[in-house]
Amino acid sequence: MNRSMQFGSEIIVIGGGVIGLATAIELRLMGAEVKVLCKDFKAAAGHAAAGMLAPQAEQILTGSMLDLCLASRELYPEWVRKIESISGVDAGYWQCGILAPRYHQVDKSIQWLDMATIHDRQAGLSESIVGGYWYPADGQVDNRALIRSLFDASQSLGIKFLDGLEVTNIRHNCGRVTHLETSQGDITAQHYILATGAWSQQLLPIPVVPRKGQMLSVLVPTEQIAYLPLQQVLFGEEIYIVPRRDGKIIIGATNEDVGFTPQNTPRGVQQLLTNATRLFPILQDFPIHESWWGFRPATPDQLPILGSSPYDNLTLATGHHRNGILLTPITAKLIADLVWHQQADNLLSAMSYQRFNPC
Ligand SMILES: Cc1cc2nc3c(=O)[nH]c(=O)nc-3n(C[C@H](O)[C@H](O)[C@H](O)COP(=O)(O)OP(=O)(O)OC[C@H]3O[C@@H](n4cnc5c(N)ncnc54)[C@H](O)[C@@H]3O)c2cc1C
Repeated sequence: MNRSMQFGSEIIVIGGGVIGLATAIELRLMGAEVKVLCKDFKAAAGHAAAGMLAPQAEQILTGSMLDLCLASRELYPEWVRKIESISGVDAGYWQCGILAPRYHQVDKSIQWLDMATIHDRQAGLSESIVGGYWYPADGQVDNRALIRSLFDASQSLGIKFLDGLEVTNIRHNCGRVTHLETSQGDITAQHYILATGAWSQQLLPIPVVPRKGQMLSVLVPTEQIAYLPLQQVLFGEEIYIVPRRDGKIIIGATNEDVGFTPQNTPRGVQQLLTNATRLFPILQDFPIHESWWGFRPATPDQLPILGSSPYDNLTLATGHHRNGILLTPITAKLIADLVWHQQADNLLSAMSYQRFNPC
């Protein structure tokens, strides 16, 4: 029997970032009635990210996290086309490849480029670069365009998005969520999905903590825009530089354990500018466009928390830390299949919340 017939079709997603929106869309396409409740759409980390799709450049170790990340990277082109065709908004997906230059000789691998080759591949790198790795299958999506595309797609599909609505408490009885207490009164549904990113621990005792990242962007000067000086991501040591097709260049990111302390700081911005102009000196004369910050949802082992929860009718989709943009398509698919079809993919087993309290 179809699960929707068993338990009705009304699902509430708590959190309207990339994970919440993408999961809501997947479930809506399967036939569910979906509402998204969001405390503050603008605060979502999805707006603050760099949009790198970088399982290899991030050097994620072989194992379940790498499997999940590679599966998501594989899904990206087709998934993004689907979202764009519903929304009509280009999400800026670009399989531009990621170059990871190094100042010191390290273990060489099959992706290693020697000094001459790396400088040939990218003009304008620091003269101190001695080689680096090249990951042609990694790439990027313009995360702000993606979140716009997801939002517009959700609206086209009739998903109700309630922004400015905070869930303050998840009420439960006998292993089931009975209702949500919110800033606008109690709300009930048949099933609930928790996609509240870095704020998840405010609702459930799961180990997700904020990791602040500061970012900034510069603009390619108008006279150089016709032949963008950078057409691949540079993933350096303590710095990454992500060129967009429209001439913006994103520079990131700090990684700070300061809770939800907002704003850019002189130390953070200085770190970004020093590391970026050292790696790619041409940037030092480009106009600064914008600076911002966001909060990654980090877990102790850097894996997301996906799947079942202590409550039968609450599913978890949080803790994506540095790779939430990359992991959006696979998360939406796995969570929607689990909730709607009761199909638990093997990829989910290592992502269970129970790994933190196994008794
Ligand atoms: C500086 C920076 C750079 C990054 N770069 C990359 C990158 O290059 N590649 C990559 O893959 N990932 C990157 N990430 C990580 C990625 O952005 C996150 O993992 C991802 O956005 C998490 O998505 P989410 O939907 O779970 O959470 P969020 O996008 O943070 O959304 C959560 C939403 O839930 C809402 N919410 C919270 N609590 C409640 C509540 N009680 N009631 C209702 N709503 C609530 C919030 O208001 C928010 O809108 C980066 C992150 C940062 C900060």
